[in-house]
Amino acid sequence: MRLTAAVYRVPTDAPEGDGTLAWSSTTLTLVRAEADRHTGLGWTYGPAAVAPVVTELFAPLVTDLDPDDVPAVWTAMQRELRNAGRPGVAGLALSAADCAVWDLKARRHGLPLARLLGAARREVPVYGSGGFTTYDDERQHRQLAGWVHDQGIPRVKIKIGESWGTEVPRDLARMAAARRTIGDDTELYVDANGAYQRKQAVRVMRAAADLDVRWYEEPVSSDDLAGLGLVRDQVRPDVAAGEYGFDLVYFHRMAPYVDCLQIDVTRCGGITEFLRAAAVAAAAGLQVSAHCAPHQHLPVAAAVPNLRHLEWFHDHVRIESMFFDGAVPATGGGAAVPLDRPGNGLDLRTADAEHYRVG
Ligand SMILES: [Mg+2]
Repeated sequence: MRLTAAVYRVPTDAPEGDGTLAWSSTTLTLVRAEADRHTGLGWTYGPAAVAPVVTELFAPLVTDLDPDDVPAVWTAMQRELRNAGRPGVAGLALSAADCAVWDLKARRHGLPLARLLGAARREVPVYGSGGFTTYDDERQHRQLAGWVHDQGIPRVKIKIGESWGTEVPRDLARMAAARRTIGDDTELYVDANGAYQRKQAVRVMRAAADLDVRWYEEPVSSDDLAGLGLVRDQVRPDVAAGEYGFDLVYFHRMAPYVDCLQIDVTRCGGITEFLRAAAVAAAAGLQVSAHCAPHQHLPVAAAVPNLRHLEWFHDHVRIESMFFDGAVPATGGGAAVPLDRPGNGLDLRTADAEHYRVG
């Protein structure tokens, strides 16, 4: 089996930012796993430094391994990271490579990946996600109205915690504006990306009591587990976190402090670890929500019984629709699980993607 990597940088369609970070482009590292004239695709969103982890650390290890033996491939790659460190760039590389190997296995057997994994559902519930702090009122309105009124998505999320929690009046005004746009029958979610302090996070949600917020993501830093638990016990919406989880132990430690665990297949260690993390959540009585990279998630999200929903993240939806034939729309609150084509159902539009290639 051969592993290669390519890096693409795509400018956003407008400046994007949340409570603790701002960006104007997004980098996608694509891993190809090839064997017997078949090619599996996996990707992650992260810096270009992901690529050499794949080509220098993983590729030499897997040359003689059977791509059908995904656990053997995953274990070889994961053990190789002992000294480099599993979280961060190396974890992104492991995740993309694992997804590529799973896709390769499915394609070699002529099976949809969701069929190989075994599907618990044919459609994955999604929520529209964007509402960046960098948007003006008009842009936020257009985005949310598009999801709710044009696509029929009954759940939307906006970013709050602007400028590390120093713009609370604007956060509250934007939440109120979002509620006006989406009406009473759509669930409103907010994500502070860890911007608030503990009691500040509680005060913000109490000040927004009449907006019926249902999902409060990273009200405080994900590293502050006791703080997450404190906020969870003091507010009405579900408190969620987990998007920075790079290994199983992370999810095991976090589970007692949240209402729903978020897992990102492009960070956590790929499909292999996503399935195990979902089992850890189930053992704690929790559902999981898939974080971003929607088309990388669809097959594995379909396979997880205790899935709540998948984040239909504006930035990644746009890139994946540009890069892949087979990308699906989200209409009526769900995205169809790809079951009619081998693998993840996606083919890279090589010429289109090449325009953005940086490595
Ligand atoms: Mg988030």
